[in-house]
Amino acid sequence: MDRYDVAVIGAGPAGSMAAKYAAIAGARTVLLEEHAAVGWPVECAGLLGAGALAESELAGGSFILRGMFGAAIFSPGGSRLHFKARSCKAYVVDRRLFDRAVALDALREGAELRLRSFVRKIRSEDGKCTLILAGGEEIKAKIVISAEGVRGRLARQAGILPPEIILSGAQVEVPFAVEDPESVELHLGQAPGLFAWVIPTNEETARIGLCTRERGCEHLRAFLKTEKIRKRVRGSATTMNVGGLPLGSPAATAVEGLLAVGDAAGQVKPTSGGGIYPGLVAAKIAGGVAAAAASEGDGSAERLGEYDRLWRAKLGRELDIGMRVNRMLNKMSAAELDGVIGYLAGKPRLIRAIEEHGDIDRPSRLMVKMLRHLDWDAIKLAGLLRYALG
Ligand SMILES: Cc1cc2nc3c(=O)[nH]c(=O)nc-3n(C[C@H](O)[C@H](O)[C@H](O)COP(=O)(O)OP(=O)(O)OC[C@H]3O[C@@H](n4cnc5c(N)ncnc54)[C@H](O)[C@@H]3O)c2cc1C
Repeated sequence: MDRYDVAVIGAGPAGSMAAKYAAIAGARTVLLEEHAAVGWPVECAGLLGAGALAESELAGGSFILRGMFGAAIFSPGGSRLHFKARSCKAYVVDRRLFDRAVALDALREGAELRLRSFVRKIRSEDGKCTLILAGGEEIKAKIVISAEGVRGRLARQAGILPPEIILSGAQVEVPFAVEDPESVELHLGQAPGLFAWVIPTNEETARIGLCTRERGCEHLRAFLKTEKIRKRVRGSATTMNVGGLPLGSPAATAVEGLLAVGDAAGQVKPTSGGGIYPGLVAAKIAGGVAAAAASEGDGSAERLGEYDRLWRAKLGRELDIGMRVNRMLNKMSAAELDGVIGYLAGKPRLIRAIEEHGDIDRPSRLMVKMLRHLDWDAIKLAGLLRYALG
């Protein structure tokens, strides 16, 4: 039976980064992936903020399709807020190639990757974990990191609670009349949960998708039929992705012998649905804590709880504010969304602040700056804030 210090389940970005950091810290590390290739199937729009790219520690590469400098936000009634920065704020990537690049980095640091290795069950005894693979093979590890993605089946079995909500996501890539190949489009109020997006992959194609409380595919079909989108679609979809998007982390992401990271721990930004940035940040901490706990021979929930404290210190406030903003946007009526977007669109100084300080990975910083530019009547603002606070 093979023995490791740290076993990571799932070779998505969070799992590969956790394996990399465990290996850097000197742990004998194995990365177990159920599929025959890393990065497949894709369940993602592939938009990475500049912060996420920096956290990936990849200097760049063929996975970057293009840079995004701006965004156009549309309200249900057609009000439009457009801003475009001088510097590149985000990147459209090929997730298959991105995931492989992160995994390769982990291998360079000494982690071992095993493909077609579906972990069926984890058995804990005498402070050690035995991972039982689909074929019956058994692997021993001192610490397990669950980076299983949104399903998080083994994390749940180990006692880590599910996220607050799992949104239903769907996306197609289609030939499309792109208005600005350097700006994403966000369409508010299309479906309860998040928003719909149009992300150009080049001048003539775009990824069109949404995440919603339920029945993502049905909502996407309806969005594609709206006048504003239908008239710009130039042909059939070349790809379709569906997947769950977790929002709201459980109270604990570490139990005896096991840590959860990435989607398995609900580490997704509720403002944008981006999971890569928080997943990478938390994965580095998880890898380091797991390696240290393995070398100390202490896999207790108390020891591994250090991971929980450290990642929340870095990301907790941002995710909490994001959850409030998400709730607020979901409670607003179409007329209120029209009013807010129309109001913001008429404030050139505020648009300049967005262009200068906008950061999809840390949106709360911009929100604080935006408050300085708001001169709108306090009653209206308080009316909307009650949605966030309530
Ligand atoms: C429609 C949609 C669009 C999105 N768009 C964006 C976006 O533009 N930008 C962004 O940042 N985020 C986006 N996200 C979120 C992002 O895709 C996830 O947050 C991210 O992939 C999470 O990474 P992860 O490593 O935690 O999990 P995953 O990427 O899901 O990887 C988990 C891996 O674990 C493997 N696995 C699971 N169980 C087992 C097992 N028992 N044994 C072995 N292997 C196992 C899986 O096969 C998979 O390879 C989107 C999500 C959806 C649904």
